[in-house]
Amino acid sequence: MVARNLKPVRDIKLDKYFSKLNDDSFNGKIRATPYWGIPSVAPHGCNGGLEDDHAPPASYEESKGEVSIIIHQYLLARSAPKYVVLYLLHHECLHQVYEPEDGDPHGPLFREQEVLIPNRDKAIGWLKKSGFSTVDW
Ligand SMILES: [Zn+2]
Repeated sequence: MVARNLKPVRDIKLDKYFSKLNDDSFNGKIRATPYWGIPSVAPHGCNGGLEDDHAPPASYEESKGEVSIIIHQYLLARSAPKYVVLYLLHHECLHQVYEPEDGDPHGPLFREQEVLIPNRDKAIGWLKKSGFSTVDW
């Protein structure tokens, strides 16, 4: 039996990435706590859809008024480049800014901003190579 870490864990480095990103790009307005863990699958995980059997690399989850951003712990184990982690954090933060449009968490306004995230293409390339589902538009 494979041991699996099911409990999300906090990490000083991830906290620092998040708080700098929050200050620089969102005027410190995002209310969320970032964790390493196993992101939920759709609808909260940012994957291509239920038919996609790849793991979502990150998710934005609300429970009892607390917001968690879960970054897949595999990225920690693989020492993923900082630009990949920053891209995922940035993407998940945008979910707090843009409500789903017609049930689509990645509506037109969201996408307009999402494509502007620094190193987005490079980060998506890394994620694809590592077997994750990615958002693509
Ligand atoms: Zn998303």
